Amino acid sequence: MNVIKQTATEAFDPLRYREDFPLLTRRVHGKPLIYFDNANTAQKPQSVIDAVDRFYRESNANVSRAVHTLGEEATAAYEAARDKLAGFVNASSRDEIVLTSGTTQATNLVAYSYALPRLKPGDEILVTTMEHHANIVPWQLVCERTGAKLSVAPITQRGELIVDEFIARLNPRVKLAAVTHVSNVLGTINPIAELARATRKHGIPLLVDGSQAAPHLPIDVQALGCDFYALTGHKLFGPTGTGALWARHELLESMPPFFGGGEMIKSVSFEKTVFADPPHRFEAGTPNIAGFVGLGAALDYVQSIGRDRICAYERELLDYATAALELVPGLRRFGEAAHKAAVISFLIDGAHAHDLATLLDQEGVAVRSGHHCAHPLMRFYGVPATLRASLAFYNTRDEVDRFVAAITRVRKLLA
Ligand code: PLP
Repeated sequence: MNVIKQTATEAFDPLRYREDFPLLTRRVHGKPLIYFDNANTAQKPQSVIDAVDRFYRESNANVSRAVHTLGEEATAAYEAARDKLAGFVNASSRDEIVLTSGTTQATNLVAYSYALPRLKPGDEILVTTMEHHANIVPWQLVCERTGAKLSVAPITQRGELIVDEFIARLNPRVKLAAVTHVSNVLGTINPIAELARATRKHGIPLLVDGSQAAPHLPIDVQALGCDFYALTGHKLFGPTGTGALWARHELLESMPPFFGGGEMIKSVSFEKTVFADPPHRFEAGTPNIAGFVGLGAALDYVQSIGRDRICAYERELLDYATAALELVPGLRRFGEAAHKAAVISFLIDGAHAHDLATLLDQEGVAVRSGHHCAHPLMRFYGVPATLRASLAFYNTRDEVDRFVAAITRVRKLLA
C-alpha cells in the first residue's frame, strides 16, 4: 500500500497504484479489463475495502448514542471523516462539512433548506447548459413551488462556459447560482474563482457541483471563494452512499433542517423541538457509518499520492488519449475546452453509442454510453447520446492504445 506521500517531482508510475486496486486485475469476456468509466464511479483501493471490513469486524456500533467503547470508536471513526473532508477541501472549520449520501443529497439540501424559503415569484436560479441533472432538477422543483425560474448561462460549441453571458445574467432576481466545477460529459474545468468573484459582487451565493472535480483536482473552497461545494464519495475512490456539502458556516446557521428525526436535535417535546447546531442539524437518522470510514481511507489514499501529481499525470494521459482518438476516422469529439479534466466524449459516424459500448464491453472495455444525466447538454449538441471514456490516475497509455485498437476493430463490425 502506498501510504507515504510522494514528492511532486517524482515520476508518476500508474502501475504502482494499480496494484492497490484489486478489481483492476479482473478479466471481462476473457480480456483484461480496461476501466474507463471513472466519471460514473471509481474503483476502490484495498485500503478502503480494508477500512470498511475492519469497521464491521471490530468497531461496528451506532454513532453519537452509545457511551460504550464500540459506540465511542464508531463515533470517532465517523467524525474523523468529517475532519478529513474539511482538510480535503480546505474548509475553515469542520462544522462547515455536512455529511450526505452524495452530491444529489447535497444539492437537494441546499434547494429545500436554503433556496425554497427565500424564493418568490419572478426570482431566478442561475445554472449553465452543461449541468448534470443533479444540479438542475432540485432547482426546478423549488422553482415550481415558488414561481421562480431557471436562468441558463450558455456555452460555446467547444464546451466552454461563456463567462460574460454568465455575468450578464447576474441581477437582483437571482437568488443562487449553481455551476459544475468539472463537466461530467465534456471534462471542461470551469473558472470557479472568477465566477465566484462576480457572484459575490452581486451578493449571490454560488454553489459548486464538485462531483467530477474532487477526484482529479486540488480543491480549496476558500481560494475558490464559492459558498457551497458538493461532492460525492464513490467517484472519489470511496464507498457509494457517501458525500458532503461544504457551506460557509453563516449560511448553514441560517438554514432550517431538511430532514427531521434522531441525531439532529437538542431537545424534543410535543410542543417544541430545538434543533442541533450545524452540521448535525442536517444529519437526521443513522448515517452510512462504515461508508464514511471508507471515505476517510479514500481521502488518505488520494492525499498520499498527491492531487497535484494526479492532476498532472491525468492531463498527460488525456492529451495522449485525445491525440490517439483523433486518428480514428469519423470520430467526433464533444468538449474541447482549454482547461479539461480527463473525460473524452465522442461519437463515431454511422454507429450508435450503445452499440459501440456493447461491442467494446466484449473487448473488455468499460465506457459509458448515453445522455450522462445531461439531457439539456445533449440537446445543445443535437445528439441523443455519446460515448464517454473517463480516466483515472490508475489508467495507462497502454490501456489507451488497446482501447483505440478495440474501437478500430468494433467500428469495422458496425460499418
Ligand atoms: N454532478 C455531476 C457532475 C455528476 O457527474 C454526478 C454523477 O454522475 C452527480 C452530480 C451526482 O452524483 P451522485 O449520484 O453521486 O449524487
